[in-house]
Amino acid sequence: MEQKRATLLWLRRDLRLGDHPALLAACARGGPVIPVFIHDASVARLGAAAKWRLGLSLGQLARDLAARGSRLILRRGDARAVIPALVAETGARAVHWSRLYDPQAIARDRDVKAALKEAGIEAQSHNSHLLFEPWTVETGTGGFYRVYSPMWRAVKDREVPAPQAAPPRIPAPETWPDSEALDDWRIGAAMDRGAAVCAPHQCVGEAAALDRLGAFVAHGIGPYKEARNTPGIAGTSGLSENLTYGEISPRTCWHAGLVALHEGAQGAEHWLKELVWREFAYHLMYHTPEILTRNWRPEWDAFPWSDGEAGAVLRWKQGRTGVPFVDAAMREMYVTGKMHNRARMNVASYLTKHMMVHWRVGMDWFADCLTDWDPASNAMGWQWVAGCGPDAAPYFRIFNPETQLARFDPEGAYARAWIAEGQARPSASALSYFDAVPRSWGLDPGDPYPAPLIGLAEGRRRALAAYEQREVRT
Ligand SMILES: Cc1cc2nc3c(=O)[nH]c(=O)nc-3n(C[C@H](O)[C@H](O)[C@H](O)COP(=O)(O)OP(=O)(O)OC[C@H]3O[C@@H](n4cnc5c(N)ncnc54)[C@H](O)[C@@H]3O)c2cc1C
Repeated sequence: MEQKRATLLWLRRDLRLGDHPALLAACARGGPVIPVFIHDASVARLGAAAKWRLGLSLGQLARDLAARGSRLILRRGDARAVIPALVAETGARAVHWSRLYDPQAIARDRDVKAALKEAGIEAQSHNSHLLFEPWTVETGTGGFYRVYSPMWRAVKDREVPAPQAAPPRIPAPETWPDSEALDDWRIGAAMDRGAAVCAPHQCVGEAAALDRLGAFVAHGIGPYKEARNTPGIAGTSGLSENLTYGEISPRTCWHAGLVALHEGAQGAEHWLKELVWREFAYHLMYHTPEILTRNWRPEWDAFPWSDGEAGAVLRWKQGRTGVPFVDAAMREMYVTGKMHNRARMNVASYLTKHMMVHWRVGMDWFADCLTDWDPASNAMGWQWVAGCGPDAAPYFRIFNPETQLARFDPEGAYARAWIAEGQARPSASALSYFDAVPRSWGLDPGDPYPAPLIGLAEGRRRALAAYEQREVRT
């Protein structure tokens, strides 16, 4: 009988074994399955923290595969060349992968698929990153959604396939192709000494993600609607880092949320709505990829945002604006790789409105520092706050970080957690910031807390004046 030929499983942002349609389809072909991850331009482009966090995820996935008698093969290069070369080397007859939706990934995958088909190799992509792929959700007139609420109403009662278990066995080839060593990639090098500080704040891999989801559904989803607004407590799921690398599937999250909803958990619907914000971001990125680089509303092109004065932008990045909510948030991100959603909105508003700096400057810094960096959610979040994006907060809605902090952090827990200067006994987390930042910044917890970069009232006045001016011009 003819020996079944191998299938390549090309892994990207689907670094798990459960609820993995591409893996299941590869196993179902009957022959050996060769999981491969390629360090290509999409990896090289990642920010320092995202790249480092990806390395942790790959390390864990390699261990999970090894526990099932399989391996993770690592190769470096352009996927357009690496995949056909691996096919030739292993005699594989098929390549399976999970779809991505950013323009560069779409172009790359299209090329790979065309080349494989040309060579007579089966090339099959699957959905595993989203609940509702962008082309499956349409408005009544057949277009895409530009506003979130109608999209939520359109999808909330849709049938979402139940998550599927990991295959019990992943058939291995008799001979494995060579793999590069993860350590040789030095994928976390740009994190420098920040890596050791940031590491304890990461929840890496599929098992940890499932545990986290379980704990959130057991204890966190009930009070979520209110708790999600309090940056000083762990009131949200924390699953963004796992979703972004595909360590957990959105379907697994959705079904856990649905069960909680049916059991009467108060915050469950609100949490499902947040999962759909992620879908909305992908919907927008697919249908209007310019959201990643340009004002989504071109009428904003005339707005006088600047790249900012270097010293001022550096102080924003360092969390030294002299505005405690902004500074606490920027330091939280530097130390943990994440930032509370309300804090993200405040620091983005402060940069684009009080400081009048272009949202792209902030978006790029987030891309460098976030371990939950997601191309679609980051771009949508920045354009939403700046006022130039889809369904955006109006520009004249300028967050006041002082009243926001008083309202959402009345006990001062968030500011205490992240700001050491001026504290008699700074918290360990606030001190850890100084161990994470580059020594060249010359920062010390004993320094005086900086005076405000710009008065909040003055910054607000200036931003509103620019906004009025823009209206005259358009
Ligand atoms: C300026 C700005 C930049 C952002 N950049 C990112 C980013 O790079 N990566 C990222 O994952 N999220 C980003 N967000 C969205 C949001 O802040 C995070 O998803 C959230 O803080 C993650 O925490 P959590 O996992 O505990 O979320 P939960 O509150 O538990 O929500 C569950 C999941 O829903 C999704 N979600 C929640 N809120 C949003 C939202 N506003 N937009 C899109 N999806 C959402 C996330 O996948 C999240 O993990 C950004 C928001 C803003 C305002």
